Amino acid sequence: MMTKGVECLANSEVRELEHGGLRCKLQFNPGRVVSAAAKVDAKSIAARPCFLCESNRPTEQRGIDAGDGYVFLCNPMPIFNPHFTVPTLEHRPQFIADCLPKMLELAERLSGEYTVFYNGPKCGASAPDHLHLQASPLGATPFEEQLITDADNFINWSVTGDVSVGLTAEPAAPAIVIAGGDRSTVLAHAQKVIAKLAEHFPAEPEPMLNALALHTDGQLRVVLFPRASHRPTNFGTDHGQVLVSPGLVDMLGLLITPRREDFDTLNGEAVARIYREVSRGRRELQI
Ligand SMILES: [Zn+2]
Repeated sequence: MMTKGVECLANSEVRELEHGGLRCKLQFNPGRVVSAAAKVDAKSIAARPCFLCESNRPTEQRGIDAGDGYVFLCNPMPIFNPHFTVPTLEHRPQFIADCLPKMLELAERLSGEYTVFYNGPKCGASAPDHLHLQASPLGATPFEEQLITDADNFINWSVTGDVSVGLTAEPAAPAIVIAGGDRSTVLAHAQKVIAKLAEHFPAEPEPMLNALALHTDGQLRVVLFPRASHRPTNFGTDHGQVLVSPGLVDMLGLLITPRREDFDTLNGEAVARIYREVSRGRRELQI
């Protein structure tokens, strides 16, 4: 399966789009169709064997201990080269409060090399029933490039000091950025922001969001994309619908299109509409 996935990635096509200053890329990767079209309702999830549980994994899929009961695995259907999935050994549900400390710790350990990220159970995770993070090469998406090289123009900082908190400027998808040099302080601020999101946008088991952590030049940055919906209104596999199921990577300006017709026809305006539909508005985020 992994051979097929790596081949799919190697043969994938990339197209760049720009719309009113919004920079993004489309990746045509047919191997991702299972993930994009995955049914993630409780009944469908309960009916399939969990592919992140060790007992159901292919015997040749070896892992590397990531500490604290987590393991690094190669994602068999990668978006990046390399692309790691980092599940817990224990089968328990996707829940940001449980894995946020680990996300920051891994980002710091993988400083300058990898971004560590999280998809909420209704925001792109194809295994919402099994807690997991992912890791991708640092700076591989348009959003990360801007965050790393041009943060002061890209983010409207509202609090500065030991920890800075800000909101991304137009036209990127609205995201809250928390940055600082000390991991425990950044973690405490990120937890506070998530608690506020839970208050303003109550949902079970947590406010809808995607998250990432990356560490460069002594700075740890956590980015939260609060979400309004799981998939765009015209999501689907029929003609005229769009098979884009946004997770963190899509929110970062790398949209995965497993179907040729979406890759060929999506334009900057359509992508901006997808972001508007699935994101919380900037005004809603002045919390
Ligand atoms: Zn599992």
